[in-house]
Amino acid sequence: MQGREGARVWLPDPDQVWRCAELTADYSNKLVAVIYEDGQTKEIKVKNEDELPPLRNPDILIGENDLTSLSYLHEPAVLYNLQVRFCNHNAIYTYCGIVLVAFNPYEELPIYGPDTISAYRGHSMGDLDPHIFAVAEEAFTQMERDNRDQSIIVSGESGAGKTVSAKYAMRYFASVGGSDSETQIEKKILASSPIMEAIGNAKTTRNDNSSRFGKYIELDFTSNYDIMGANMRTYLLEKSRVVFQAPEERNYHIFYQLCSVSDKFKHLKLGHHDNFHYLNQGSSPTIEGVDDAKNFEETCRALSLLGMNEKTQGQMFRVLAGILHLGNVALEEGNGDSSAVDSQDESLHIVAELLGIEAEELKMWLCHRKIVSGREVFTKPMTLREATFSRDALAKDIYAKLFDYIVIQINKCFAAPTKPFRFIGVLDIYGFETFEINSFEQFCINYANEKLQQQFNQHVFKLEQEEYVKEKIEWEFINFYDNQPCIDLIESKLGILDLLDEECRMPKGSDQSWVEKLYDKCKSREHFSKPRLSNTSFIIAHFADKVGYECAGFLEKNRDTVSEEQIKLLKSSQISLINTLFTEKSRKPAATKVKVMPTSPAPSKSKQMKQTVGSQFRDSLNLLTQTLNSTTPHYVRCIKPNDDKMAFTFDPTRAIQQLRACGVLETVRISAAGYPSRWTYHEFFCRYRVLCRSWDIKRNDMKLTCEKIISNMINDEDKFKFGRTKIFFRAGQVAYMEKLRADR
Ligand code: ATP
Ligand code: MG
Repeated sequence: MQGREGARVWLPDPDQVWRCAELTADYSNKLVAVIYEDGQTKEIKVKNEDELPPLRNPDILIGENDLTSLSYLHEPAVLYNLQVRFCNHNAIYTYCGIVLVAFNPYEELPIYGPDTISAYRGHSMGDLDPHIFAVAEEAFTQMERDNRDQSIIVSGESGAGKTVSAKYAMRYFASVGGSDSETQIEKKILASSPIMEAIGNAKTTRNDNSSRFGKYIELDFTSNYDIMGANMRTYLLEKSRVVFQAPEERNYHIFYQLCSVSDKFKHLKLGHHDNFHYLNQGSSPTIEGVDDAKNFEETCRALSLLGMNEKTQGQMFRVLAGILHLGNVALEEGNGDSSAVDSQDESLHIVAELLGIEAEELKMWLCHRKIVSGREVFTKPMTLREATFSRDALAKDIYAKLFDYIVIQINKCFAAPTKPFRFIGVLDIYGFETFEINSFEQFCINYANEKLQQQFNQHVFKLEQEEYVKEKIEWEFINFYDNQPCIDLIESKLGILDLLDEECRMPKGSDQSWVEKLYDKCKSREHFSKPRLSNTSFIIAHFADKVGYECAGFLEKNRDTVSEEQIKLLKSSQISLINTLFTEKSRKPAATKVKVMPTSPAPSKSKQMKQTVGSQFRDSLNLLTQTLNSTTPHYVRCIKPNDDKMAFTFDPTRAIQQLRACGVLETVRISAAGYPSRWTYHEFFCRYRVLCRSWDIKRNDMKLTCEKIISNMINDEDKFKFGRTKIFFRAGQVAYMEKLRADR
């Protein structure tokens, strides 16, 4: 440990995550560091070279557009560079290799207008400042140049700016891929946003306009690269919100929009939103700066533009109002273990009227279920708890079916008239999540992220390999992180999902017995563990973090059952839309494209179960991965800079958490394991010519010149490689050369 005095380093800090410091002295067993800003000193113990604190980058590299061009590529360097860009330069976008890191500014910025679009048109990624438009442009030109489908994968936690980024990317494509034809498909594609936000977004404590579903939109192009159509797939709508909202949260926007114009739709008997149990549980019915009535108009305009005429809209609003009134049907305790609804219950009659079904039958099947035992069929009363649960399940089911129906209608309207030539897909999907208590929903979301991370790692790995091959450099990837074992734990035979489905098929299956089977069958798997102090939860070591999942509710959520009699009743509805919703054909399109492989003994024909939520999700994720793998992917990682929605305010603790969770630090790690710094021979010569003797310069052989310069400076041959057109350096070498240059 010679010569470390004066080294500029980073020390961990509980508040700022990392703080600048400088090493003042250097002993055999002990180093002393001074913390810069206030001159405060602190001693740190270091046993060997590996324990030295991370070194800081030379100042010329601070504020770089691309994190992978930093010489020291570690967590503090990444964090500091992002912070300087965001706080000092208001630069919300930064590249990290092929990833665009996008900070949510929480402020309208003048960088998305038509002028900016034209500025980015025709430029490659390095030419201009990092921008979502640059990524979109890159995708567009690669589609043209390589004749390949493309995708833009946007991820990040709630409120980080995914939907906004996805919308800007789409706007870019609509603008550069616009044709002059009459159909104005671009307009239609952009109009799908207000509809999807009305029915799939809600106010949560994290985001006033939080998307409660995942979305993948493909824009189809002709061979002239004009947009000719589109197609949308959605993932895992949060259904529970239809019947329950946490404090400060709202149900889906559309319900409040509809109530705000209740005067226009007297027959729906809506009135104020506070009248409805399904709307008032969060006690926070308004959103600052949002006018529900105005947005309702926009929703209707968009619905009309996308081929849903006034009659269809009228029926949709009927269904939505029906759901709200259903939530107000007063279920009461009956005699013994039963439940009851008063025959005079006003809501009961409104629901029956709106949904076009018999009030008496509805009353019957809200409180009873049919039991088949051998050849006998009889009805059994439900307890109040069961009846409430089953009513809510029905409300959720109707809503989810309406949601899928609207997606299908939009897709019909989007559909390209002939086979598209190429497509660009934009994925806006929830990022990795971990809460105090994690359940089935977080499990699914994190599973999706695990799959996307794998797709990402494989792609980065492949690109790096290709670059080395192209430059004819021999080098093997060491220590490459592969999360296949974690994915196997979740989706393979006798894995978590498989055991869950098996448990769901058992008449007496329970969350508890399922989790015990997990403990037994998965205990030897490397990413699984049982918490010491709990018998009801399990831990998965995801790529981003360890997450504990509580087993309660997994079976129910995975089965997602709705009373068969209630379904039958709705099938008999006089309203044509409700009929359509409840016939098999309106099932989700994504699921029908997939060959469903039975994972364990197939249930007998007569007892054929409907596909569980978990296995449906697994199939749609596998389809998504297949699609993404057939495209050239581009990645956008959105970061929420603070939890208070404050403009340009950087909370390093929160930032670092997300950089870890979205794999940016993993990318950096992969880069750092190879030769992250790359210079063309000419670039290198221009910067470091001061370090060579004049007789070393061979004007017509830059490569030879550079080899000479380097051989004078770096002895260790592993630290650099000479490629065909570029020199590759290990992490830290550029910083070292900068120091030599500065000392000159
Ligand atoms: P969720 O997972 O909850 O759907 P999200 O990642 O989609 O979250 P957005 O809805 O895109 O988050 O963004 C949340 C809010 O942050 C926006 O409504 C907007 O106010 C602000 N915001 C995000 N990106 C930008 C941006 N580029 N410029 C200005 N404001 C932004
Ligand atoms: Mg969103």
